[in-house]
Amino acid sequence: GVAAALTNHETIDLAKRHLVQPWPCAGEIGAEARSLISGGEGIYITDGEGKRLIDGPAGMWCVNVGHRREELARVMYDQAMQLSYNTPWYTMNEPSAVLAERIAAYAPGDLNHVFFTTGGSTAVESALRFMQFFNNARGRSDKKLILSRGGAYHGSTYLSASLNGRPRDRDWMDGADELVVKLSSPDAFRRPEGMSIAAFSDMLVAEFEETVRRVGADKIGAFIGEPVQASGGVILPPENYLPRIRKICRDNEILFIADEVVTAFGRLGHVFASEDVFGIDPDIITFAKGVTSGYFPLGGMVVSERLLEQLRRSNHPTAMYAHGLTYTSHPVGCAVALTNLDLLEDGILAHTQAVAPYFQQQLKTLEELPLVGEVRGIGLMACVECVADRESKNPLQLDTNVGMRIDAHCHELGLLVRPLINMCVMSPPLVITREQIDDMVGILREGIS
Ligand code: PLP
Repeated sequence: GVAAALTNHETIDLAKRHLVQPWPCAGEIGAEARSLISGGEGIYITDGEGKRLIDGPAGMWCVNVGHRREELARVMYDQAMQLSYNTPWYTMNEPSAVLAERIAAYAPGDLNHVFFTTGGSTAVESALRFMQFFNNARGRSDKKLILSRGGAYHGSTYLSASLNGRPRDRDWMDGADELVVKLSSPDAFRRPEGMSIAAFSDMLVAEFEETVRRVGADKIGAFIGEPVQASGGVILPPENYLPRIRKICRDNEILFIADEVVTAFGRLGHVFASEDVFGIDPDIITFAKGVTSGYFPLGGMVVSERLLEQLRRSNHPTAMYAHGLTYTSHPVGCAVALTNLDLLEDGILAHTQAVAPYFQQQLKTLEELPLVGEVRGIGLMACVECVADRESKNPLQLDTNVGMRIDAHCHELGLLVRPLINMCVMSPPLVITREQIDDMVGILREGIS
């Protein structure tokens, strides 16, 4: 963009001829037209026509401190001029060590070591391969199955994608199914008719216990879950469900991996949500996205000291965690993350906590609209779920493309929505003000109406 100065038409045409975009349908692969975005500032992005839009999904739940933060652009430049890259195989750099220390200080319990990756999928992949290695090295090589849930999204690499629980993510794709055991989604909106939320929570816990009994604790290495399922439609865990699952995992030596790729770094008003919001202390936390507010691809996992100590004392001291990425501990990414963390600490976390109740309350008013089945959310993430019929909660059929149609209307009115079939997910940059929330909800109301 900055260098080429093409017209919109030329850019879109080049993309249609040469660019493969994520999640394409076979009939359009390599020839898809998508809205061109040419700029961004604060909570706004600018489309190819120069139209200013509220960035409703903050990119992909990632532009947490907002677009065009000069501090982040400057640190990227300064770090690249100081040291643009070093091999993490046999050298190291200062930004990654300092960032690891700061992340460890925020992580719950004894989670005090960080392994950096290139994003969320590679963070999840690293955590699962760590679990496999951990059990191999301590002579428990039968204990490696992974529990994951309906509605989950954990990534697009082979193993992380194998855990995904939204049907259409798996319909046409292969996966390591033999390694995964699936559990129900904790989606309370679609709980059995007439069941209380408490009974629904009991049902999920009973299913978990029964699965551990049936499959055998000696076969299960890990449970992975998003504290709030993000791409599944902002599915909140029913009260007490996560701590109870956490306890079953501890009792059965099943590693509890909290996938905080979306929920960490401010989305719920805290650096990590596991302990501060949900009262759990996982064995491993994965993160990405907000760690650099999307300015640089970076992710990682925070691992418990207790697990590392077990490895150090294992019977196989030369066994190797043969896992690392060229860009592990990237100095530019880590430097960006340090400045991003400064910005979060210097007011953005506090602002998020202050403004979140207003955000939720205003979006909730959309439940007045006949098309809206439920509005749910926490912190600065929410989902407006549309239904064909409120009684049966029948989701609108895919072919009605309601999400896309709402998105198209809202685009006209100045808001980018990220439609998920029948769901509009709202997770704007955390710097959004009350007035901007009013604008966002006003446009969404009109778009849905
Ligand atoms: N985990 C969760 C919870 C996510 O929401 C995502 C992406 O949306 C991922 C993992 C994968 O992250 P990435 O796209 O950075 O590989």
